Amino acid sequence: MTRNDESAARARRVIPGGVNSPVRAFGSVGGTPLSIVSAQGAMVTDVEGREYVDLVASWGPALLGHAHPDVVAAVQEAAARGLSFGASTPGETELAEAVVDRMQVGGVAGIERLRLVSTGTEATMTAIRLARAATGRDLVVKFAGHYHGHSDGLLADAGSGLATFALPGSAGVPTVIAAQTLVLPYNDLDAVEAAFAAHPGRIAAVITEAAGANAGVLAPQPGFNAALARLVRDRGALLILDEVLTGFRVGPAGWWGLEAAGAEPAWVPDIVTFGKVIGGGMPLAALGGRAEVLDLLAPLGPVYQAGTLSGNPVAVAAGIATLRLADADVYARVDAAAEAVASALHDALEAAGVAHVVSRAGSLFSVAFREGEVRNYDDARDQQAWRYPPFFHAMREAGVSLPPSVFEAWFLTAAHGDAALERIRAALPAAAAAAAQ
Ligand code: PLP
Repeated sequence: MTRNDESAARARRVIPGGVNSPVRAFGSVGGTPLSIVSAQGAMVTDVEGREYVDLVASWGPALLGHAHPDVVAAVQEAAARGLSFGASTPGETELAEAVVDRMQVGGVAGIERLRLVSTGTEATMTAIRLARAATGRDLVVKFAGHYHGHSDGLLADAGSGLATFALPGSAGVPTVIAAQTLVLPYNDLDAVEAAFAAHPGRIAAVITEAAGANAGVLAPQPGFNAALARLVRDRGALLILDEVLTGFRVGPAGWWGLEAAGAEPAWVPDIVTFGKVIGGGMPLAALGGRAEVLDLLAPLGPVYQAGTLSGNPVAVAAGIATLRLADADVYARVDAAAEAVASALHDALEAAGVAHVVSRAGSLFSVAFREGEVRNYDDARDQQAWRYPPFFHAMREAGVSLPPSVFEAWFLTAAHGDAALERIRAALPAAAAAAAQ
């Protein structure tokens, strides 16, 4: 038994499945999950003292690389001043100002107000409540394969049937709650139009990942988000742009910033949700939007939302330090590292004769073992997913830690320098050969 095995066995005795978030259990690749004891830059170290080049990056937050010294110093300094006050702090305002500033693109304000919460799940859950209050309507549209956290109504994901009422996506979700969610195929504006036509005056909001990255990477078709924003507004509903994963990771103003920079006419979502990078690895998330929408939140308005640890001063310090450091040079380095790994991945699979597509959305990418473009969840599922576990384990053997599912994006950081990239390149041919069998 290895020390990873021992660690996992011990965890399973007291923690359901041995994990505190299901994908960590390696259910879709098999084998023993890594038990990590430390991380620095591009590397993570497991209980056995083995180092891996990390392409998980804590599922997104580690934009700068793990344990950036300035972020750690900011956290230590904040912790020494007190862990939580249950009262307002100047740091919260500083972080909100930084986010509002970043979300100004080409003279267009992406958001005017920001409310801090602790997880992306809370951010999207509150966004839905706000949209319902703002419109006086109940139904919510989401896209198949998009993940918005684990609140009851948003777990619903019944597939791509046009305007079908969703079945619960998890045991324990009441059917009446799932029935408030319509699941539509992604990148399909006709389906959205049809849903509004089928349920006139009943749809409060359409929620979409700014770029899909939870069923593998599913980039929006050019113009899709802008057209969706127009359509949704025209029908009296709100557009919730979920940037929990993409926000401040793919660019200084998230995915919206990449699109808004060139958009004519400008488009602005009604509510934007943030998480992951905004907290630099600490539990912190947020929702932002127009003042008239966000000011519906208590104490100004009738929409209740609260949190003992919301705006936690230590998490806020990590967020401020991370955003301060995330400058153009950081994004250029992450983009270049992503380009290098994505093209090396393609070359290795090509050389091994494995049918594949590397789907990209900015610095996010994933592999699908199929021919042809991946536009929606049905496409993503239509692949030889069984090729991924042997690929994954060959990479792990060679000292590279990949996301433990083919349906997850690969995350690069600004700390992935030449040595890390070289280790990945060196590992790929054997992994591609394993995938070919
Ligand atoms: N929205 C998106 C797009 C996500 O990728 C995630 C998490 O991966 C969430 C929401 C939920 O965030 P959290 O895990 O912080 O609750």
